[in-house]
Amino acid sequence: MGEQKQIDGNVLAAKSLAQFGVHHMFGVVGIPVTSLATRAVSLGIRFIAFHNEQSAGYAASAYGYLTSSPGVFLTVSGPGCVHGLAGLSNGGINTWPTVMISGSCNQSDCGRGDFQELDQIEAVKPFTKFAVKATHISQIPNCVAQVLDHAVSGRPGGCYLDLPTDVLHQTVSQSEAETLLTEAKALAEKNKESRSTKVDASKIGQVVSLLRNAERPLIVVGKGAAYAKAEDQLKKLVETTGIPFLPTPMGKGLLPDDHRLAASAARSLAIGKCDVAVVIGARLNWLLHFGESPKWAEGVKFVLVDVSSEEIELRKPFLGLVGDAKQVLETLNKEIKDDPFCLGNTHPWVDAISKKTKENASKMEAQLAKDVVPFNFLTPMRIVRDAILEWGGSPAPVVVSEGANTMDVGRAVLVQKEPRTRLDAGTWGTMGVGLGYCIAAAVAYPDRLVVAVEGDSGYGFSAMEVETLVRYQLAVVVVVFNNGGVYGGDRRSPEEIDGPHKGDPAPTSFVPNAGYHTMMEAFGGKGYLVGTPDELKSALSESFSARKPAVINVVIDPYAGSESGRMQHKN
Ligand code: ADP
Repeated sequence: MGEQKQIDGNVLAAKSLAQFGVHHMFGVVGIPVTSLATRAVSLGIRFIAFHNEQSAGYAASAYGYLTSSPGVFLTVSGPGCVHGLAGLSNGGINTWPTVMISGSCNQSDCGRGDFQELDQIEAVKPFTKFAVKATHISQIPNCVAQVLDHAVSGRPGGCYLDLPTDVLHQTVSQSEAETLLTEAKALAEKNKESRSTKVDASKIGQVVSLLRNAERPLIVVGKGAAYAKAEDQLKKLVETTGIPFLPTPMGKGLLPDDHRLAASAARSLAIGKCDVAVVIGARLNWLLHFGESPKWAEGVKFVLVDVSSEEIELRKPFLGLVGDAKQVLETLNKEIKDDPFCLGNTHPWVDAISKKTKENASKMEAQLAKDVVPFNFLTPMRIVRDAILEWGGSPAPVVVSEGANTMDVGRAVLVQKEPRTRLDAGTWGTMGVGLGYCIAAAVAYPDRLVVAVEGDSGYGFSAMEVETLVRYQLAVVVVVFNNGGVYGGDRRSPEEIDGPHKGDPAPTSFVPNAGYHTMMEAFGGKGYLVGTPDELKSALSESFSARKPAVINVVIDPYAGSESGRMQHKN
C-alpha cells in the first residue's frame, strides 16, 4: 500500500466549512489563509474577495440576517483581524449570526514579535458570544462546527475562530481527516438535538387575554421577527385580530408598508396612546425610546417576545415570552383560533390610526409631489421610490439605505412590500455598511435586484468595493445622494471659521461635485451623473433593466437636509 495522501490545516478547514453547509464566504486573503480560500472555492463554496475586511465583515453580518445561517468571513492575522472587528461587532450588536475566521501567528513565536502578531482571542472578546482557537490540526473540524453552531443558536451573534499559521501548516492523512470530520459531524448533531426550544404555553393564554381586553392594542415587529421568517404567522395574527402593527426600520416589509393596519405613518399616535404593546423581535432600546414616556403612553403594558431571556430580564416587561418569534406567533394564532376576536374597521382605535395615517401620508405626498431642482432629498427619493415600485413585482428589490438624511428620508418614503428587503445602519447606526450589504444581498438573493440609496459619506467608507460588484457582476445599482459632505455643505458660523487652519475645508466637507460615477466607470461598470428628474428617471430605468453594477451620482443641493439628520440633539 502506498503512502496515504496528506492534507494540511487549510484544506481541512475548507472541508469542514463545506461539510457544515457553508455556501458563501466573504473576506480578504493573504498570509496565512490564501490556500483556505482557494480550497474552499474548489469545494463549491463561493468566495467573494473584498478590498477591506471591514466591508467583508459587514457583508457576512447581513448575509447571516438575510439567510438565517451563519455569515462567514475570512481575514489574515493581526491587522486583518482588527479590520474585521468592525463587521464582527456589527453582526453581534444586530444579533445576526456572523463568524469571523482569522489566521494568526505561529503559536511558538507568540510573544516574540512575530509577523502580524496579536492576541486575537482577547481582541474579539467584547464582540463575540463564542471564540475558539484551534491549537492543533485535529481540532479544526470540531472548532468549525462549534463556531457555526454558536452563531445561530439562542440569540444569534458574532463568533470567532482562530487558526494559527502552524496549525494551518500541520498535516494529517486523508483517512484521519475523514475520521475527524465524521466525529465532528456526530457531535454537532448531538448538540443540535439537545437544543430544541419550547414556547412557554402558560403565558400564551395571558397574552391573548391582554390583547382581547385592550382598548388600544399595538403589535410592534422588529428585525428579530424578520430573521425568524415570521411573516406568515404575523399576517395571520394581524388580520384575524385587526390589531394595528408598527414595524421598526428593518421590520419594514414583514407586512407590506401599505397594509391597511400599518401604523408607520401614525407612529407617534400609535406608541403614544397604545395601552398594550406586543413587541416581537425588537429591543426597547434607543430606536424604540426605551419604551418610556413621553414617547410611549404612561403605564403601557409591554409584552416582549424575544429569543433571548437576558433581553427580557433587562427590560422587565409586563409579560415576557422567551422563544422564536415564528413559533410564538404560531402558538398565539392557535390559541386565538379557538376563541377568535377582531377589532374591526369601525373600532375607534383602528379608525384613529387609519385617519392619522391617511392625513400624514397625504401631507408627505404633497411635499414629495414637487420637483425641486437643484435636488433636495425628497424629490430624488420619490423618483427612486416610484422607479422601484414600477419596476418590481415579486421578488421585490432589496433596498440598502444609509447616510444621515438619506436614510431618514428613505425610511419614510421608500416602500417595503416584502420581508427582509430593507438593510440599513441598524442598531449601532453603523455608517459604511452599504457596499458590503449590497454584495451580501446580491449573493444571498440572486433573483432580486439590489438598490442602494446612500449618502455620499456613507458610500465613501467602502466605495472601492464597487470594483467587487463589477468583478462578480452583481445586480446592484448604487444611488449616491451627493451633497458634498457629511451632512452636506459647510454649515459653520463665521466665528467657527478661525485659527491657523481656517483655509482648510470644513471637517464635514468633501470635494464638491465629486465624480463618484466615474469610479464605477474606471472598473468597467456603468456610471451616471444626474441632476434633474428626467435624468434620474432614465438612469434608474436603464440600470434596473440591465441588472448590472451601476453607480448613479445624484447631485443634491449641499444645503438641503440637516446636520445629523433627525439626531441633532445628540451632536
Ligand atoms: P430592531 O432593530 O428591529 O428594533 P433589534 O435588533 O433591536 O430589532 O431586536 C431584535 C431582537 O430580536 C433581539 O433582541 C434578538 O434577541 C431578537 N431575536 C433574534 N432572533 C429571534 C427569533 N428567532 N425570535 C425572536 N426574537 C429574536
